[in-house]
Amino acid sequence: MSPSNGHTIEIVYLISTVLFVLALKWMSTPATARHGVWAGELGMLLAVCGTLLHHGIVDYRWIAIGLVLGTIIGVPLGRVQMTAVPQRTALSHAFGALCVTLVGTAEFYLRAPNVPPFMMAVLAMEVILGGLTLTGSLMAAGKLQEILPQRPLTYKGQNFVNLALLAVAAGLAVYLVMHPEQKLLFPAMLGISLAFGVLMIVPIGGADMPTVISLLNSYAGLSAAAMGFVLDSKLLIVAGALDGSSGFILSVIMSKAMNRSFTNVLFGAFGQVQTSGPAAAEGKTVRGATPEEAANILAAANKVVVVPGYGMAVAQAQHKVRELYDALTKRGVDVKFGIHPVAGRMPGHMNVLLAEADIPYDKLLDMDEINPEFPQTDVTLVIGANDVTNPAARNDASSPIHGMPILDVDKGRTVMVIKRGMSPGFAGIDNPLYYLDKTLMLFGDAKSFVGEIVRELGHGHAHG
Ligand code: NDP
Repeated sequence: MSPSNGHTIEIVYLISTVLFVLALKWMSTPATARHGVWAGELGMLLAVCGTLLHHGIVDYRWIAIGLVLGTIIGVPLGRVQMTAVPQRTALSHAFGALCVTLVGTAEFYLRAPNVPPFMMAVLAMEVILGGLTLTGSLMAAGKLQEILPQRPLTYKGQNFVNLALLAVAAGLAVYLVMHPEQKLLFPAMLGISLAFGVLMIVPIGGADMPTVISLLNSYAGLSAAAMGFVLDSKLLIVAGALDGSSGFILSVIMSKAMNRSFTNVLFGAFGQVQTSGPAAAEGKTVRGATPEEAANILAAANKVVVVPGYGMAVAQAQHKVRELYDALTKRGVDVKFGIHPVAGRMPGHMNVLLAEADIPYDKLLDMDEINPEFPQTDVTLVIGANDVTNPAARNDASSPIHGMPILDVDKGRTVMVIKRGMSPGFAGIDNPLYYLDKTLMLFGDAKSFVGEIVRELGHGHAHG
């Protein structure tokens, strides 16, 4: 590599490093999130271009083939529905981990038996983390896409078996550090890591998958950072470390929002309870209301809090919700939105949808901010949210979601819930909110029901 070419590459890498840091910073608030995405994309483009400038590349043909294949796979992946983003993200992690694992394996066989201890240690870390992230992410994507059973599969001594496998892989890594000439141990270590990835996900229920995916994100980042040491690339080390730490922080935030510890997510086999729920509804009655009645109640309110959930995302009702916001605000009603950190199927799901519909950011309040306001709220309108409003999490010690922080919608004066029927939410359990005297059920698809309320408000049937 000529010195000037080397300098150009270093400068390009430096700029992409700065862009990655800015991307994370900007993505932390909705107002700048779009810039963050652009910065991340530009950073990645520069990193790829910088790498292509390397004089060490003697033949661009394989790279061109890879580029075409990657594009063919990547374009449809970028077009999935937003509700399918968790499994799509898992697939991206699997591809990244596959790449890291292949590079690590190639580097080992290129260098063995002359691998210095530090190099062997990072190579082993790269391949163990890469291997378990690869199969773990594929399993997670399969569970979320419901190709694989969502239920956690458990057996006696499972955690012991899993941890023992990981310990064997780590033991082989230590042995290889001391004896890198034992080339056959390398595939054994890799094979065990791949098996561990599968077994690690088997006991975890579908509901915990998004948390596990962000943890796998963090493993993928760490393995990329290890690859950075192997390839002597500072950019990979920094980008991997950013990925590793942000993935870890996100998993911690999500675990907290579900009131679960990390170990409980990983070893708790949560989700088995899913079958026991709906039967509890037997014999209880609910009160329904028409769009016209709902419009009248909303129009008479001073203060309304809208609580969106997964059903709003499925129905793509966010634009109709925006129309409702406009119609009510025009009548002088104070409208706010209460956003639970795990409403929907991925962190920030509701914020993204409501931002897409141009609902002002300052009207979106986090759980801690909105909860004290419910007792003074005339009408709480729940749109396709279920688990995140379930008072059993607060009141019923025997509930499987007991302890999960919820939006205290049951403390509002009147509660209206839009959903299609009495089906449970993701946790598979009944919601006592629906049987309260103050609750009105608005049965229907979120988009059409909200649309009908807006029409009623527009017709002026509703009295202000
Ligand atoms: P839920 O899954 O609890 O409930 C969604 C509700 O929407 C259902 O009860 C369903 O009822 C209703 N619904 C579905 N389609 C429509 C439609 N077209 N129109 C109207 N209603 C509809 O969602 P929440 O957002 O309340 O809770 C999120 C759940 O996901 C929590 O259990 C959380 O722990 C879990 N989770 C979220 C993560 C995240 O990062 N966001 C991560 C991990 C887990 P019906 O069928 O009767 O219409």
